[in-house]
Amino acid sequence: MPLEIITIPCLADNYAFLMHDPDSGVTGLVDAPEAAPIKAELDRRGWGLDFVLLTHHHWDHIDALDELRQIYKPSVVGAEADAHRLPPLEVAVKEGTAFSFAEEDVQIIEVPGHTVGHIAFYLPESRAVFTADSLMALGCGRLFEGSPAQMWHSLNKLAALPSDIMVYSGHEYTQSNADFALTIEPDNPALQARVAGIKKARNAGVATVPSPLSLELSTNPFLRAGVAEVKQAMGMQGHDSEQVFTEIRKRKDNF
Ligand code: ZN
Ligand code: FE
Repeated sequence: MPLEIITIPCLADNYAFLMHDPDSGVTGLVDAPEAAPIKAELDRRGWGLDFVLLTHHHWDHIDALDELRQIYKPSVVGAEADAHRLPPLEVAVKEGTAFSFAEEDVQIIEVPGHTVGHIAFYLPESRAVFTADSLMALGCGRLFEGSPAQMWHSLNKLAALPSDIMVYSGHEYTQSNADFALTIEPDNPALQARVAGIKKARNAGVATVPSPLSLELSTNPFLRAGVAEVKQAMGMQGHDSEQVFTEIRKRKDNF
């Protein structure tokens, strides 16, 4: 049975996510940006906290961990490669590590680029992937540590997942990502429609995360560096997809 997944706005523009198995009562949290809103949501629902899954070491994804650990004593799951700079981990994982949550298989996908130790959590039965600052709604994370080649490879791993899953990314950056995406593909009708929806949602204070992977594939410029129309729109026919991705990322950094 699919998990119940709850989006929790934290800090200025971060998202944390609760996942809960109604049968067993097991509850997990993906990333820990801010204790108060997470605690409020758990209290309101009468849930404990059994696991915290960390995507990467940036402070805005781990800051609340100490406080939550004292209250709920969860098992903390994070990347083995970054164990030296993550909070203490009960479970250190890497790609291929068998991990399950409430009897649901959780696949660890290494997605370096934003940081070198960034991981994503893919839950096939719940049709969900938690990507934080790797693949984002209509964007991708900035390359603080990794190379464009690494991020391109990471995004391709995520793009290869079943397209009917939902992408749970780490920030509400979609509006500004939309403004940028339109500079790359102004004539993409799927993008135009999505941007109109984003405007409406943000005006109503509604989150644009999660987003369907299928929609990212048809509109997210960072996933579309290999598409002929995109190469042409950028004047980069004949360049390979990785070069096109590198140029899109560069333009976004200067946007
Ligand atoms: Zn980050
Ligand atoms: Fe972040």
